[in-house]
Amino acid sequence: LAAQHSYQATQLLAILRAVQGRYHYIPAAAIEQLAELLNIPRTHIIGVVEFYSFFHLQPQGEYELLISDSITDQMLGKAELMAYLSERLQVPVGGVHADGVVSLDNTSCTGLCDQGPAGLVNGRALTRLDKAKIDQIADLISQRKPVAEWPAELFVVSDNIQKTALLLSQTVAPGAALQVVFSRGKAATLAALEQSGLRGRGGAGFKTAMKWRFCAEEADAVRYVVCNADEGEPGTFKDRVLLNRYAEQVFEGMTVCAALIGASQGFLYLRGEYLFLYEPLQAVLARRRVAGLLGNAILGQDFSFDISICLGAGAYICGEESALIESLEGKMGVPRNRPPYPVTHGYLGKPTVVNNVETFLAAAHIALNGGEGFASIGTDKSKGTKILSISGDCRRPGIYEYPFGTSVQTILNDCGADDVLGVQVGGPSGTFISAQELHRLLAFEDLATGGSFIIFNTRRNLLDIVNNFTHFFAHESCGFCTPCRVGTSLLKKQLDKIVSGHGSAGDVVALEELCQLVKNQSHCGLGQTAANPILTTLERFPEVYQSQLKKISYEPGFDLDAALETARRMANRNDPAAHLAQIEAEHD
Ligand code: SF4
Repeated sequence: LAAQHSYQATQLLAILRAVQGRYHYIPAAAIEQLAELLNIPRTHIIGVVEFYSFFHLQPQGEYELLISDSITDQMLGKAELMAYLSERLQVPVGGVHADGVVSLDNTSCTGLCDQGPAGLVNGRALTRLDKAKIDQIADLISQRKPVAEWPAELFVVSDNIQKTALLLSQTVAPGAALQVVFSRGKAATLAALEQSGLRGRGGAGFKTAMKWRFCAEEADAVRYVVCNADEGEPGTFKDRVLLNRYAEQVFEGMTVCAALIGASQGFLYLRGEYLFLYEPLQAVLARRRVAGLLGNAILGQDFSFDISICLGAGAYICGEESALIESLEGKMGVPRNRPPYPVTHGYLGKPTVVNNVETFLAAAHIALNGGEGFASIGTDKSKGTKILSISGDCRRPGIYEYPFGTSVQTILNDCGADDVLGVQVGGPSGTFISAQELHRLLAFEDLATGGSFIIFNTRRNLLDIVNNFTHFFAHESCGFCTPCRVGTSLLKKQLDKIVSGHGSAGDVVALEELCQLVKNQSHCGLGQTAANPILTTLERFPEVYQSQLKKISYEPGFDLDAALETARRMANRNDPAAHLAQIEAEHD
């Protein structure tokens, strides 16, 4: 397996994936051997295995079932289905059956929120799970039928494109944008990109032309293009559709970028949950090579460029661009200190442009059509359109494309949402807006978003939602810095205490203080936004938190009086004055 990857340490994730595919875990002997063959420390490999949730040091079942714990799956009855699945398979959640055939566990959002409850079996996506499908799955496992031979209907993934605008309705034919780049010239293309006002679609909104220009101006002749297809924000699934339906255009955008910045190698970093897209995407790349759109002398020009696909392994943090680069290099996806930024010190320390799937899709459109039309759509600071992933309480979940400046109310009308409690815009790291804010606009200057829209109606329990998001961040913290590693766990515990009815007014104050600490002291965006679900809902719905509080005075999270029983026995005391309830009563 190592030989198939040229003994390259940068290929460690791909090699580990292959090892695990063969043994259902990463055996210690394999780690020893890989350390020697790749000339890297054994501890480095163990660290990588432990970092990514899809790798295991302990044997997993021959059939590894992971069920999405995303809030949208919870809303679709995931808890009940999980219990049923556990019973049918006779395996506890988080466990492996004694015969080693099947293992079952939760996993973070699988990017299928529009067709949940969803899960993965040996990495392949399962959609719209219900009891009948679970019975079918249990039967297939008991027959030991290989997953490759399971009925196709279990794995149907729909695109669910509900509304198209500029980008999704006017596709770029393979090679068309590149032809224009070569005839118009690189400087003029970069100027068109500048004129378009295109900003990165991941949420932060950095100007794309500026990023590409900075990279092109770096003295180092070796440069890279990276497409971030690791959207792991719960509620986001548009990349899945863009890569399934518009992959040619995404690769065209990457190739345009390479031509402008002078790169000869590109990477698509594909989240592990989208394993089902891997082979189809390889086929698109192969087609483009045959058509002369990748490889040497592209379209007869003095320009060579190719793209490799790297699969992630279940780490949300790898959506952060510097963590993604670490992962591409075969390491744990720990975010780097910034500056320097990837545009000057990226993959292998070389200048690297990292943009997301939607940005490259838009760049190809602009390279072909110029920047004027794109810039004429949207608002002053937000040009063009935004593609949204809409899920939750609405009649038509799926993919929607809107001009920037569209109101939330318009979007809710289109997708069939009413009786709305609120909308989580931008996923858990974004903003929870209430029903009083539906006039707000989709725009960098108002509601900036990577594209996740989760809708909740008034029958939902707000604290269940916040709790799910807070647990998500605690689970996905990479553990590198203390404020986030410890802080997200403390947030989870503090919130659990309030939700379970053991909180006091002081606990809400302490929760808010902890939120500010995690927000202000964390190293990267994950920690800096992990408290957003609590902060944005505390601000809008303080009464929901207050209603959970039993008493104004402090209430411990455990029975303090019972804990003092041993001390009372040793002191030979059991009179009323030796009990806390008595003491509290006297104080009252
Ligand atoms: Fe890791 Fe969290 Fe620190 Fe980011 S903030 S580096 S995710 S521990």
